[in-house]
Amino acid sequence: MGVLEHSDPELWQVISREQRRQQDTIGLIAAENHASRAVLEAMASVLTDKYAEGYPQHRYYGGCSEVDVAEELARERAKRLFHAEYANVQPHSGTQANMAAYFVLLQPGSGFMAMKLDHGGHLTHGSLVSFSGKLYRFIPYGVDRETELLDYDEVERIAREHRPKLILAGASAYSRVIDFERFRHIADLVGARLLVDMAHIAGLVAAGMHPSPVPHADIVSSTTHKTLRGPRGGFLLSTAEFASRLDDAVCPEAQGGPLMHIIAAKAVCFGEAMKPEFVSYQQAVLDNARLLASELQRGGLRVVSGGTDNHLLLVDLRDLGITGKAAEEALEAAGIVANRNAIPFDPRPPRVTSGIRFGTPAVTSRGFGPDEMTRIAQLIIKVVTNIGDDKTYKEVRQEVEDLCSRFPVPGLSD
Ligand SMILES: *Cc1c(COP(=O)(O)O)cnc(C)c1O
Repeated sequence: MGVLEHSDPELWQVISREQRRQQDTIGLIAAENHASRAVLEAMASVLTDKYAEGYPQHRYYGGCSEVDVAEELARERAKRLFHAEYANVQPHSGTQANMAAYFVLLQPGSGFMAMKLDHGGHLTHGSLVSFSGKLYRFIPYGVDRETELLDYDEVERIAREHRPKLILAGASAYSRVIDFERFRHIADLVGARLLVDMAHIAGLVAAGMHPSPVPHADIVSSTTHKTLRGPRGGFLLSTAEFASRLDDAVCPEAQGGPLMHIIAAKAVCFGEAMKPEFVSYQQAVLDNARLLASELQRGGLRVVSGGTDNHLLLVDLRDLGITGKAAEEALEAAGIVANRNAIPFDPRPPRVTSGIRFGTPAVTSRGFGPDEMTRIAQLIIKVVTNIGDDKTYKEVRQEVEDLCSRFPVPGLSD
């Protein structure tokens, strides 16, 4: 360790305790991952000191020759990785990537269609607590009540009825393949633009394990820190048609100076995602998610839509008579970290919910395989069927710690 331990022990302790927490618990939050040591190094570099408003070769500051190279590397790698004509790697987060895309495709007050939050959508997809619901008119679509799958005929019907300027495809809690080609077809029928938010599945797309939205969407927005396993941040891809409008929409419309250390780390992440090991990693993420889903089902839990095609799954807890909140708290007491999540047509409010969401990107980065997933499923079942029993929590917690001790968190060890 470096100097922080002595210069600011109070803050240093927070970081060391967080390292311990990550090491000693099983992290099943579907949106989280463990960045590599290389990504962490780039993030912790002096590139954080540099102001670079503008774009490579067109900055509003001097001294940008080196950060220009970093940003060019990130842009070129993103384009190559996803076969896109244009990439913007400056968005500070997925939220700002979406903001910039809306600035290009919508006017204040325009109507846009997106997936309902409780069916798997995201706050930035039209929620009234987000700028997206305040500035624009949200027209919701969702999943079918019976199959819990996206109902494309219904999406088409709503699109024909409302004729939105934009249709947004993409989700935070949908465990099935999304048919971007069908979305394109529906958008074309009503003269709408298509935005795909692939924040969750970007790593799967990069590895060819989920159909790519790039050939179908006008603009693709994403994060870098979920399945893609990079630094916390966002990026945008598009056809050449939107290149200069998107550049302006990110900086200066949505943001000021870019985070050059994070952009450098994005370049590292895109480079890592081009390696064959990344494909094997994403295959293991999928295998682990499928196995976790089937083992939970074997143990009597109901998995929303009956399974998963990606890195996450949702469990409906209503048959057990417990809430998402109760399950989340009990699991955390036992060392298993996940999040409460609305299920489609959830009767309970968002702070309580009837579901819990599990994802496998982070544990797979630690090297967890089939044996561990099977055991984790058993431990989850033990906890959620013994809510309130401290002895159960303690027993599970002990086993979780033993399991975790065999799988170091990558960024801390390699
Ligand atoms: C996570 C997520 C975002 C937002 O990402 P932040 O970096 O947290 O702002 C946007 N869209 C979807 C679908 C997401 O899952």
